[in-house]
Amino acid sequence: MKIEETFFETVEKKKLLFMACDKCRKYYDDPYEIQEFHQISFTGGYGSAFGDMTKIECDICQHCLKVMINGIYREDYHQYMEI
Ligand SMILES: [Zn+2]
Repeated sequence: MKIEETFFETVEKKKLLFMACDKCRKYYDDPYEIQEFHQISFTGGYGSAFGDMTKIECDICQHCLKVMINGIYREDYHQYMEI
């Protein structure tokens, strides 16, 4: 048998206000822009160009990413829209 009581507690939560692009340094508060951010996070392994066991992180807006990978990306337009 459970014996419970009701109580009030204050909980602190974080709310995302902005995303800042590490390339162009712009701040975005539009939810549609924020959802299109790309977060890169990995740890370099043995022989990594970034350094052995070096943790790498960056946040890139969709506009900078498009410029950065222009000419090398493949696209499959509406691949999820097929019925
Ligand atoms: Zn950017």
